[in-house]
Amino acid sequence: MKKILPLSCLQMLAAALALSGGAAWAQVDVGAASSLRTLVPAETLEQSAQQQYAQLLAQARAQRALAPEGNPQLLKLRAIAQRLIPYAEQWNPRARQWRWEVNLIGSKEVNAFCMPGGKIVFYSGILNQLQLTDDEIAMVMGHEMAHALREHARERLVKSQATNLGLRLGAQLLGLGEVGTAAANVGGQLLTLKFSRSDESEADLVGLELAARARFNPQASVTLWQKMTQATGGGGIGFLSTHPTGPERIHELQANLPKVQGLYEQARH
Ligand SMILES: [Zn+2]
Repeated sequence: MKKILPLSCLQMLAAALALSGGAAWAQVDVGAASSLRTLVPAETLEQSAQQQYAQLLAQARAQRALAPEGNPQLLKLRAIAQRLIPYAEQWNPRARQWRWEVNLIGSKEVNAFCMPGGKIVFYSGILNQLQLTDDEIAMVMGHEMAHALREHARERLVKSQATNLGLRLGAQLLGLGEVGTAAANVGGQLLTLKFSRSDESEADLVGLELAARARFNPQASVTLWQKMTQATGGGGIGFLSTHPTGPERIHELQANLPKVQGLYEQARH
């Protein structure tokens, strides 16, 4: 009589699969990663992201918007990424095998992201319109890398797909095939995913830690978001629409600074 509620099934399974994903070696503590994410195979999502990334680059290339090798802004982005990447695997052992890529797309759009598997794109709009310093770029990049490392997309996709999958999922709990298929089919969503407020807080803190370890000034996280607050955005799927900012976020960032100041000082010496 009573229908199986897919979410309670999910939760039970999630509990069964829960990994002790704590991060004892890390200076900042953001708790264990959500166990829900384990319902979408990481490989599936990373493959899907890779296809999406390749498509995006091909599109940009066709429009002559993809920055060529040797472009000074692209070189700068890649140099910043090279400093951050060594600290990434502390947050996710899979990152050791990721083939990190960094590309720059010429566009007025104020946007940047890192897809699952370490595929990074910056739009020139975010660099030029906000006049970002290297430290501020590192904060954006660290924040986006943190979303990928903490696998926020996996978690979000499970949550959004769970309701659609409904009872079919109940029948396939052991195989998990449905969720995996769903994840493979939503590559396009990866670019427009809006994370929860708690995902955002986590990405701010983890990104800040990566940047501090890589010798980028933590104070830049505050100036970055002050600039974001003042920017007009321009609508669309830009960073500003997926990253609401305001006094609350700035306040939280300021409260985070002492947590990583020691790491930054250590990195400088
Ligand atoms: Zn974010």
